[in-house]
This record gives sequence, C-alpha cells and structure tokens, in this order.
Amino acid sequence: MLATLEKRIHERFPRYLEALENLIRIPSISFDGFDKNEVIRSAQAVKTLFTNNGFQNVQLLTPPSGRSSVYAELRTKPHNPTILLYAHHDVQPTMREALWESPPFSPEVRNGRLYGRGTADDKAGIILHIAAVTQAVAVFGDKIPNIKFIIEGEEESGSVGLQTLINDNKELLKCDAVIVADNSNFAKGIPSITTSLRGMAAVEVVVKSLKAPLHSGSWSGPIPDPAQALCRMIASLTDAKGQIVIPHFMDGITEPTKEEEDAYDSLGMTEEIFRKDSGMVSTLSLMVDKKDILKSLWRKPSIVVTAMEAGSRTQSGNVLQDSAYARIGIRLAPGMDADVAMLQMIEHLKKHCPLGMDLSLFSEDGANPFTTDISHPYFEMMKEAMTQAYGAPARYIGCGASIPGAQFFRDAFGPIPVLLTGLEDPECNAHGENESLYLKDFEHGILAEALFFGSLHK
Ligand SMILES: [Zn+2]
Repeated sequence: MLATLEKRIHERFPRYLEALENLIRIPSISFDGFDKNEVIRSAQAVKTLFTNNGFQNVQLLTPPSGRSSVYAELRTKPHNPTILLYAHHDVQPTMREALWESPPFSPEVRNGRLYGRGTADDKAGIILHIAAVTQAVAVFGDKIPNIKFIIEGEEESGSVGLQTLINDNKELLKCDAVIVADNSNFAKGIPSITTSLRGMAAVEVVVKSLKAPLHSGSWSGPIPDPAQALCRMIASLTDAKGQIVIPHFMDGITEPTKEEEDAYDSLGMTEEIFRKDSGMVSTLSLMVDKKDILKSLWRKPSIVVTAMEAGSRTQSGNVLQDSAYARIGIRLAPGMDADVAMLQMIEHLKKHCPLGMDLSLFSEDGANPFTTDISHPYFEMMKEAMTQAYGAPARYIGCGASIPGAQFFRDAFGPIPVLLTGLEDPECNAHGENESLYLKDFEHGILAEALFFGSLHK
C-alpha cells in the first residue's frame, strides 16, 4: 500500500501545490485593521475546494467576529471511528514587506521551498488534510475512518470565537480523535508529533507622569521620567540572568517525565545549532545551560517585551516624555494557568511602579498550556506512518508556542487523543518575513496522514 499511495500522491503533487498557491494568493490576515472580506473570501475558497473534491455537508461556521471557519465531512461507515482534522486558513500580517524576496501573496518556489505568507502556517495543513483523505479513500475505500474537517478563520488572532463555535456545533464536530496540522517538524525531514504546547498571556502597560511632553532643559530634574520608570518595572520581572522572579510564578509547573526528557535529549540539539537557527548575535550569552535549551523552550515560562514606546525615534527631540508604553508577553509552561499568571504579573508591576506614576494595565485574553498523554495507540500508529512516509524515525517533541484550539477540543469532547502534527520547520520563518514551506516534507506529510488513516482499520 505504501508504494501505491506514494505513487498516487507523487503524481498528483503538482495539483496540490497549485491548490495551495491559489489559497496563498488571498491575503486572509485575521488581525483587526485588515480587510475582513479577505478572510471571508479565503473561507469561500476553502469551501469550494471541499465541494470540488466531493466532500459532504460543506458549510461555513461563522463566529461573532465574522471570520468564518469551514466545515466538511466524509462519512465512510457508522461503526468506523470519527477523526476531526483541524487546520486554519487565516494568516499573520506580512511584517516588513520590503524584506520579502518575493511578494508575500505571490507564491514562488525557490530551492525546494514554496515562499509566501501562510505557506507553512497553515494553508499547507488544509491541503495536506484534503489530499491525505482523498488518496486514503481511493486506496482503502470505506475502511478509513469517518472524517470531519474544521478549518478555522481566526487562529492567528487568538481563536477568540473557536470555543463558542465548537460548543455551538458539538454534535456536528463530535469525534473520537483530532489531528491538528498546525505544528512543526523538529527539522527538515524529521517527522514529529508535538506533545506539549506553552500557553500565552499578554499585558499592555502605560505609565504616565505629565499632561503633555515638556522641554527637558526647562523641566527635567524634579519630575520623574516615565520611560525610566517603565524600564525599572520591566527589569523587576527578572534577575540579571533573565530568570523570572515574580513570587510563586513557577509554582504549578509540571516537570517533563523521564520519557519526555529522554525524547528531548535524543533530538541532538546543540548550542551551535540553536545559535545558527535563531540568528543570535555571536557575543550573546544563553540565559540557560546549553543542555537545557529545549526544556527551556518547551517546558519553562518566558517573559518578552513585544513592543515599547516613549516618544518617537524619528522625532527624538530633547523632551521629557509624558508617558511610556510597553506590551509584555508571557509564554506559560505546562501546569501554569493563564489567568493566575496574568494576575501575578499585574500585582508585581503595580508593586514596582515607582514614584507615584499613574499606571494603567490592560490584559489580553490568554491561552492555557497543553500537554497530551501519548499512551493512546493512535500516537504510535501515527509515529509509524510518519516513519514510513518520511523514511526517517518520527519523534515526540514539545513546542514553545500556543494553539488554543488543542485544549478547546478536549474540553468539548473529553480526554480524546489530540495529535499535533504539521509542516513548519526551523527554516520556515512562520510569522516573519519570507515564510516558506519545504515541499518534500509537504509531500511526505500527505503520505504519512494517508497511511495513518489506512492503518486504523487493521
Ligand atoms: Zn498556525
């Protein structure tokens, strides 16, 4: 069966690539301030793809934001298990367009990679699912599981409506397992299943000291500088080595099991590889021991200032600023709670706000971390299918990013297996400029999922 599927998928691969390129051409950015109609147009394009490929019950599911998800299904036999396949069709903004080597919404193949916004994250996931199901059913017939698809339209803007959408359509989406194709392979050609995700929270901080900016010659000295006050507050969150010092912040963290630690160690991450992949400045010190790089990325929290503003770089006259702004993001380790961590951060910032500055704090909706129990047989079956398809042993890995949907599915359907797969890799630059997809892994990923469906009836 491997050879038959491999041949079928290889023959049809140019068509899959073309279908992906057509989706990439739609700038479906789901952030406020961008044209929502493009997300709707993208949902329509996905809907047409399902209809043209013969799927049933194809429909848009629209959350309050208007950024529609797409549902479709394929019923095989009532007694077969039902698997829900997730991907998302919305994308991140393009960042600095001048830095793109080809326009973000004009897909282009260079050196075995397809460049464009949304290639790896996550429009390839949509085509992967459709191609895998279509080919699995062609080869294995009605022995493959019943399939349901949910292709989300607002993952990049925090999946704000997804939980409600799942709850409102619980019968429709009901399933025995979920495959979320929105994660990474550990490296090119190394198939991976992600077993933990960090959570996320963020707070915006504004400190204010004056009604309006003042001439620094005439006024500075007696009056506290809001920019320096904000820097002190931010600096109070960590020690000189970057370790978080907010009281009780790390209390709930669940340590990785021995099995997980061994799996991380077996991946062969070195300081050299990490420095190269991240593009760190050569003089920079790591904030953790080199043997703990992966554990730090996947199983420890981090705090990052994602934006700071006080005055403007292009108009930096000699002025005492009236206010300073920062957005502080937290990545939460498995075991932590987004609401608790946010409160602890806010309390800490309030306590460290100096000299009676006027302080305003705005917290954003967070996402909890996620871990999965790999004892369900589907995990080993997926690992086996991936190993065959890629011709390289599949790995269990963690992920430092967040996918709120992973937890929503489990909240709605109980402790079902949630398999996190995907086609990102360390070179894909998802969310950054020149995002790309490694085409060989795209093809192997389709084959892996098709083989997995085929293996379920044995
Ligand atoms: Zn994604």
